[in-house]
Amino acid sequence: MDTPGELAQRVENVLGRVADACRDADRRPDEVTVIAVTKFHPASLIRQFVRLGIHHVGENRHQDAAPKAAELADEPLTWHFVGQLQSNKARAVLGYSRIIHSVDRSSLVSALAKADTPCEVFLEVNLTDDPARGGVAPDALEALTESVLERPTLRLAGVMAVAPIDEVPRAAFARLRLLSERVRRIAPDARAISAGMSGDFPDAIAEGATHLRIGTAITGKRPLAP
Ligand SMILES: *Cc1c(COP(=O)(O)O)cnc(C)c1O
Repeated sequence: MDTPGELAQRVENVLGRVADACRDADRRPDEVTVIAVTKFHPASLIRQFVRLGIHHVGENRHQDAAPKAAELADEPLTWHFVGQLQSNKARAVLGYSRIIHSVDRSSLVSALAKADTPCEVFLEVNLTDDPARGGVAPDALEALTESVLERPTLRLAGVMAVAPIDEVPRAAFARLRLLSERVRRIAPDARAISAGMSGDFPDAIAEGATHLRIGTAITGKRPLAP
């Protein structure tokens, strides 16, 4: 574990780089939400983030996130679920996270709607050619958009993606921006774009990202999966 000083320095560094990238892109920093992805890290680290002014955290596995959220119920935190989500866990995840970044199929839309709990969803798009990767294929994005719009408890926030490893991130995020425009033709309020991780968030900001999911650059080295 690092000292609190090192953590504070990393937060300051990342927020400074976010501000620089916003300035370069002629955007206001308050258009961009920084989510600290705290997967595999203990609840104690998240408490330190709250002291440093970070109130948005992201987790990717229900079995790790649920006990942390329970332990930190007294902290002013917004939990973002960013990982693959099995339909049979949808209801349980909504117990602590009302913002799901990884909605990629209509069966998950149905499961979230059945839980009858208001929540925000991002549609995760697969920007690779590999159908085994997470995310809906771009061709199927509009149909998935429609399926969310039919559900009164779900609010469509926008789109989400992870940049492919074999492509320049800026080019991938430019494609995501076009896909976001396609979604907004059907759902004008779905303006959010969840994109950008530790290695590529300035590129994501340049292409309009509104929600950055930043892990190691802000948390330091990740422990191994529990
Ligand atoms: C782990 C993770 C991140 C953060 O990754 P870093 O490279 O550590 O910034 C972002 N998004 C998702 C979906 C993740 O699983």
